Amino acid sequence: MPASIIELSQSALQNNITFLKKQFENTRISSVVKANAYGHGFEPYLKMAVACGIDHFSVFSSDEAKKVKSIIKEPVEIMILGWINDEDLEWVISNQIDFFVFNHERVDKFLEISKRIGIPAKIHIELETGMNRTGFHSKELNRLIKKLSENKQHFQFKGICTHFAGAESIANYKRIHDQIKKFKSLHKRFLKSYLIPETRHAACSAAALSYPKTRFDMVRIGILQYGFWPSVEAYIQFLSHNNIQTDPLKQILSWKSVIMSIKKVKTGEFVSYGTSYLAQKDMKIALIPVGYSQGYARNLSNQGRVIIKGQRVGVVGMVNMNMLIADITTVEKVNIGDEVVLIGKQGDISINVSSFTEISDQLNYELLTRLPLEITRVITK
Ligand SMILES: *Cc1c(COP(=O)(O)O)cnc(C)c1O
Repeated sequence: MPASIIELSQSALQNNITFLKKQFENTRISSVVKANAYGHGFEPYLKMAVACGIDHFSVFSSDEAKKVKSIIKEPVEIMILGWINDEDLEWVISNQIDFFVFNHERVDKFLEISKRIGIPAKIHIELETGMNRTGFHSKELNRLIKKLSENKQHFQFKGICTHFAGAESIANYKRIHDQIKKFKSLHKRFLKSYLIPETRHAACSAAALSYPKTRFDMVRIGILQYGFWPSVEAYIQFLSHNNIQTDPLKQILSWKSVIMSIKKVKTGEFVSYGTSYLAQKDMKIALIPVGYSQGYARNLSNQGRVIIKGQRVGVVGMVNMNMLIADITTVEKVNIGDEVVLIGKQGDISINVSSFTEISDQLNYELLTRLPLEITRVITK
């Protein structure tokens, strides 16, 4: 057995997709799988998602699009939200991959290639509405509209889109509303010039949940499908609006290891490197073969929690490169080889990434996407 494994639950994903389809009835769902499916792993995750009926995937780059394309044999749509290598653009267009266009440089490049190879590009024009990241500014639209109007046969106008700056927090309420208004008014400028996008899309998970007006024709859902909330605030708001008490989502991912060694430590001795943990009682400790090089954050030293024998226990001392130590003084009948849950459930006790991230001050997103590719992934029921 490897030092740790990541299990992915098919029934948890099915639960989440069913929930999302119900929430966003009549709106297409694009499953956002950038960053190795938020750390879950392309290979297993894509297969699981296709089995749940997902037929649209969003990735960040052309490299990711190539990986997704090589894994999925079923006819699905793939959309690139960000980076495209110059050398890949021809592959993107000839493989009918959708992609965001957010500056004139990309317009010129795709037109050049589409004309040369005789295949219309499937484009989504991204608009700047207030995030100040990628997207065409309103001042650039006349020039853009002129170029597009003169080259209508060389592209398929699959969509116009934008992205919100912080829909997971109510503090950004006004900014989001301003962005929606701007998006609608920029859309009209295309219509006036007889450039009709097939779809409008704008919402990520937080926007789709908290601002129904942002759903338009498609929502781009990342974090929710994996069973996590974009923020604690978004979660609490959802529960109270819907008058429910329990989390409707299920986390797909569990991360498990085993006890490698057990030993006793006497009062007054230090544990692990340095002096950060002083035993204040006679203790029993367990060594677990997972450290910061495997994605267990170093700032969980003396802070993290793991589950052993159905009991939540603390990490003591510094997290090492490949090892961490847990205090199992109160755990009975514990042996080398016993299961250790780093993320996930054992019996009624669970460790979820959000409690983890509160301690370590990492966002859900960051902790997940830092789980190394090398850890073995297995699909479970
Ligand atoms: C990452 C991303 C999303 C998905 O965000 P979640 O918060 O995970 O739902 C949607 N749209 C764009 C453009 C993104 O980059």
